[in-house]
Amino acid sequence: MDDNQKLAELLFPDVTETVEDLERRFPQRALPEGAKVTRFAPSPTGFLHIGGLFSAFVDVLAAKSSGGVSFLRIEDTDKKREIADGVSGIIEGFRAFGVDFDEGVTGFGTEKGDYGPYVQSCRAAIYHVVAKKLVQEGLAYPCFCTEEELTALREKQEAAGTLIKGYFGEWAACRNLTFAQQEEKLRSGAPYVLRLRSAGDENRKFTFDDQIRGKIEMPENITDAVLLKTDGIPTYHFAHACDDHFMRVTHVIRGDEWIASVPLHMALFRACGFRPVKYVHVAPVMKEDEETGGKRKLSKRKDPEAAVSYFVEEGFPKEAVQEYLLTLINSNFEDWRRANPASSLYDFPFSFKKMSQSGALFDLVKLRDVSKNVISRMDGETVARYTLEWAKRYDPDFYAVISADTAYLTRVLSIDRGTAKPRKDISVWSEVQGSVSYLYDALFEPDYALPDNLSNADASQILRAWEKVYDAADDKDAWFGRIKDLCEPLGYTPNVKEYKKNPDAYRGHVGDVSTVIRVAVTGRRNTPDLHAILGVLGEARVRARIAEALAVYEQ
Ligand code: GLU
Repeated sequence: MDDNQKLAELLFPDVTETVEDLERRFPQRALPEGAKVTRFAPSPTGFLHIGGLFSAFVDVLAAKSSGGVSFLRIEDTDKKREIADGVSGIIEGFRAFGVDFDEGVTGFGTEKGDYGPYVQSCRAAIYHVVAKKLVQEGLAYPCFCTEEELTALREKQEAAGTLIKGYFGEWAACRNLTFAQQEEKLRSGAPYVLRLRSAGDENRKFTFDDQIRGKIEMPENITDAVLLKTDGIPTYHFAHACDDHFMRVTHVIRGDEWIASVPLHMALFRACGFRPVKYVHVAPVMKEDEETGGKRKLSKRKDPEAAVSYFVEEGFPKEAVQEYLLTLINSNFEDWRRANPASSLYDFPFSFKKMSQSGALFDLVKLRDVSKNVISRMDGETVARYTLEWAKRYDPDFYAVISADTAYLTRVLSIDRGTAKPRKDISVWSEVQGSVSYLYDALFEPDYALPDNLSNADASQILRAWEKVYDAADDKDAWFGRIKDLCEPLGYTPNVKEYKKNPDAYRGHVGDVSTVIRVAVTGRRNTPDLHAILGVLGEARVRARIAEALAVYEQ
């Protein structure tokens, strides 16, 4: 046994599996040519950033549109960032907006797929197999330097003004320990980290082909980066190489803050004997800065809309969020959608190359607009179902009112839907209450204020006349015909054009007459189709509301 072999046995006496065993345990996936295997790999912080949802969408799209596989892996090697059950909140965000991974973590303590475990803290044995091989081949070594020694090293480098700082070359004190020295330290129980023995040369450059940015040239990595921390837990870098290799990932889609680490990652793939993955570095989601007018990153601290939970709580329909994110991912999505209104998102010919390098601009106003359109295309039953689902969780008082009679809720929400020009007054489920409250006696808070050209006496006269002719059996034309017939005897004209020509000849026009009826019945001036509203309320409630309004106008 040579010294490297002896060292490997000393460091990993319990590791009996080999890298070849792992290669067999996690075989190449049987997928069609060109199929992409992607993953989203959050830390379990309980917080899902909108940028995370954006990036996860890219993972799923890239996989689905190529006949590949996407999965969710939890990266919990940094215990400082972790919170108790930080997984459920993340999964809930994905579920709410229809990001559907094929494999991986499915909940707190649950997962599916053959390439797991999908939680890094359960993969220690796998990392140790690879680490052992690196030690056997002389490509990794234990480093016993203490925090103080590392600080002293940094200070020396500062003083010497070295261009590159860190643990490398002649600065790397533990790199050249003899086996006897290593053995002695290990036997004394000295804590250690495992480091890569870098073969890089700072004067050599390499290029890689980023799928969004194209060719990027960088100098090789020369630092002896930490692979395993003192507790045997891998660093992000080492876990990335092992996991993305054995989970057979083809495209690593991740934040562009990782570009700087590519030289190290390339070195790790090479040292481990793994074929490198393709990288897709995604720029952060941006927001227009109100103060400067420029772009800045959406900030978890400053912007409530940075959190995916904000969109769940507000009640954005998942279809709207999906459509909007797609327009941010590839700007040609909108044109494609216009040409293919009924197609699935996953039929869109999505491309990495069309993604923004500087960061897509997230615009809440635009999202609301998309959402209004998406909801306007839904039928009353669908809107009712979504509203109930949302209210049950986020507005129990409203839920109590609307869930008592879901058939009535559907009728309420069907007003002005399914027509050529459907209503577009709702962009989120939390707006439904404001939009329909007048159709519920329990929520009815009328504002009887009239336009300036109408007095309380005018209103009283119109309502008293209308009460007499109102027939709940009338269709829309007959109903409106009766309102027109009321006009002349009361001094209004049924003809709006005529009124505009001769305003002094009339007290007002048919619009004023119907406004008075609208205000009396609904307690507001703007509503969808009044005839439909009267039908939903029913004759008894309409007459009761006219009586209530008359009591106010005739005080
Ligand atoms: N866990 C890493 C992060 O949260 C993921 C980076 C990657 O996707 O490789 O930043």
